[in-house]
Amino acid sequence: MNPRDDTTDARPVLLTGDRPTGRLHLGHYVGTLKNRVAMQQEFRTYLIIADLHMLTTRNSRDDVLASEQHIVDMVLDSIAAGIDPAQATFYLQSAIPEVCEINTYFQNLVTVPRLERMPSLKDMARDANKEEMPYGLLGYPVLQAADILCVRGNVVPVGKDNLAHVEVTREIARRFNHLYGDFFPVPEALVGEVPTLVGLDGGAKMSKSLDNAIFLSDDEATVRKKVRSMYTDPARTRPDIPGRLEGNPVFSYHDAFNPDRAEVDDLKARYVTGRVGDVEVKDKLAVAVNALLEPMRARRRAFAEQPGLVEQVIIDGTATVRAVVQDTVGGMRRAMGLAQVADGLARRARFRHDTKQALEAR
Ligand code: ATP
Ligand code: MG
Repeated sequence: MNPRDDTTDARPVLLTGDRPTGRLHLGHYVGTLKNRVAMQQEFRTYLIIADLHMLTTRNSRDDVLASEQHIVDMVLDSIAAGIDPAQATFYLQSAIPEVCEINTYFQNLVTVPRLERMPSLKDMARDANKEEMPYGLLGYPVLQAADILCVRGNVVPVGKDNLAHVEVTREIARRFNHLYGDFFPVPEALVGEVPTLVGLDGGAKMSKSLDNAIFLSDDEATVRKKVRSMYTDPARTRPDIPGRLEGNPVFSYHDAFNPDRAEVDDLKARYVTGRVGDVEVKDKLAVAVNALLEPMRARRRAFAEQPGLVEQVIIDGTATVRAVVQDTVGGMRRAMGLAQVADGLARRARFRHDTKQALEAR
C-alpha cells in the first residue's frame, strides 16, 4: 500500500474515530463502528486515532507510551469489524501538526461559557479525578472541530455522548464561514442504532475505562463469562419471580444483538411472568454475541498474521490525510487573509532588495 492522493476524490467526506485508550467494545460497534462499516464506500472515510484528545485526560509519559499498543489493537478491532483499509483511511492525529494550527484559529470562534456549559466535559474531568477543568479538556470540542473540518467532513458517525461536541463543530464552521466567506461544510452527526449501550454493570455507558465492557476481541469463553456476570433484575432471586425488563441490561443487549426476534419476544414474555431462569436468558445472549463476534475473530486473525501491516496502514493513511489537511490550511489562510499578509511582507522585502540592487548597480 502507498499513500493515496485524495485531493481529487469527489465523494462526500466522513470523519470519526477514537481515543487510543484501549480496545474497542460492543458500545463502539453499535454506537458508531457499524455505521462506519456501512458507509465506507459511499463516503471518503477518515478514521482518526485521536491521541491528542487522549492527552486531555491522560497525559503521563506512561499513558502516552501505552497508546502504541492501543493504537494497533484499535485499528485491528476496526478491521475485524469490517473496515476495509483499502477503502477507509486510518491516521494518527498527533502526526499532523497542521491540526494544531487549525485548532488555534478555531479557539477564537467559540466562547468559554459555551464550552463550560457542556456536561460531557465536566463528566470527563470528574472521571479523570481532576479537581479543576484543564484548559485542554475545555477545548476538547474545539480540537474535535479541527479534526472534522481539517478534511472538510460532511458526516460524523458518533455515539450519543458525542452529539453535543459535533454541535460545537457546526457552530465553528458557521462562524468561520460568516467571518471569512463560505469555506467549510456544516457537518451532520449520525448516531448509531443504539445511541448509548449501557455497561455490563447496568451503568450509564459501556466504556473502555470503566471495566464494564465486552471487547470485540474477547474470545468465546470470556464473552460467556462476562454475560453470566451481568447485572440483571436484583429482585429476582428465583426463576419463578416475575422480572422487570426496564433498566435491565441483559434485555437491552438482547434487543441490540440477538437477531432472532421471536426468541427475544419469547424470553421477555417468560421473564415478566416468572417462567424462565436467568441462566437461560444469559446463555442465549452469549450465543448471539458470540455469533456476532465470530466472523470478526476470523478477520482479525487473517490480518494479525501479517506483522507490520496495521502499522503500515496507519503510516500511509497519515501521509494521505496530511496532504488533505495541508490543502485545507492553505485555503483557510487565504480565506482569513493570513496568506495575503505573508505575501505582502515578502513583496515589500523583495522591493527593498530590488531597490538596493538597483542603487548599488548605479
Ligand atoms: P474512554 O473511556 O477512553 O472515553 P470510550 O469507551 O468512551 O473511551 P471513546 O473513544 O470516547 O470510547 O468513543 C469513541 C466513539 O464511540 C464515540 O463516537 C462514542 O460516542 C462511541 N461510544 C463509546 N462508548 C459507547 C457506548 N457505550 N454506546 C454507544 N456509543 C459509544
Ligand atoms: Mg469516551
